[in-house]
Amino acid sequence: MEEVIQEAKSKVLNSKRLVALTGAGISAESGVPTFRGKDGIWQRHRVTDLATPEAFAKDPKLVWEFYNWRRNLISKVTYNPAHKALVALEKIALHFALITQNIDDLHRKAGSKNLIELHGNIWWVCCSRCRFKAEDRRVSIPFPPVCPECGGMLRPNVVWFGESLDMTILNNAVKEAERAETFLVIGTSAVVQPAASLIGIAKKNGAFLIEINLEPTEVSSISDISIREKAAKILPRLT
Ligand code: NAD
Ligand code: ZN
Repeated sequence: MEEVIQEAKSKVLNSKRLVALTGAGISAESGVPTFRGKDGIWQRHRVTDLATPEAFAKDPKLVWEFYNWRRNLISKVTYNPAHKALVALEKIALHFALITQNIDDLHRKAGSKNLIELHGNIWWVCCSRCRFKAEDRRVSIPFPPVCPECGGMLRPNVVWFGESLDMTILNNAVKEAERAETFLVIGTSAVVQPAASLIGIAKKNGAFLIEINLEPTEVSSISDISIREKAAKILPRLT
């Protein structure tokens, strides 16, 4: 284990283009539940009821209650040593990019700068009818939230299951993955597409893959190094 960590550290510190992809696992130790882990959110709520455009069309109040519950939870937690380690690596690396699937804003709160949020941000709302978008940090948004531009219903500015990602954001992430020399994959089950495909793209373009996850995942077999440990324990040791 010690040797593997040292090898990972040397790759991370000597790489000219360092890119990280994070998932819900990096925020687990901050107290934000993951989707698929043992205490995953969806064991208490069915994803199909809450995080899809169909659910919002059918019962927007229920979907807003769920997001207000998540806003409340996220407002009470903060970043952990894993988020902080990525901030430190951004300062050390010649080029660094952080691609996240998380919507919890904890990377920004920790101080990460070159951040690509693939699935949006829970503290932003957007209109379900027009192009209006705004930051709204209220912990609980009264129902129904109305668009100031067109009177349509506002929704969380996050990507739901079955929805497409913003093309500009995805293209930026693909470019980073293609050019990465070392690619860190942290706390993601690597099953949500197209986010997970970035890992294969990085690998195909010659990146050295380092995975940090409590469990084996879809991409463990293509990883050059797989560390089965908590992100908050390992990442600070790579800085
Ligand atoms: P996931 O729930 O599918 O997988 C979480 C992964 O993290 C698992 O593989 C698990 O083994 C690992 N893990 C758990 N604790 C860990 C720790 N302490 N250290 C290292 N690894 C740990 O999450 P995902 O892959 O990000 O996928 C799914 C979707 O979930 C994304 O679309 C994302 O937007 C959404 N999501 C976001 C949040 C958040 O913003 N914090 C929370 C839940 C889900
Ligand atoms: Zn509108």
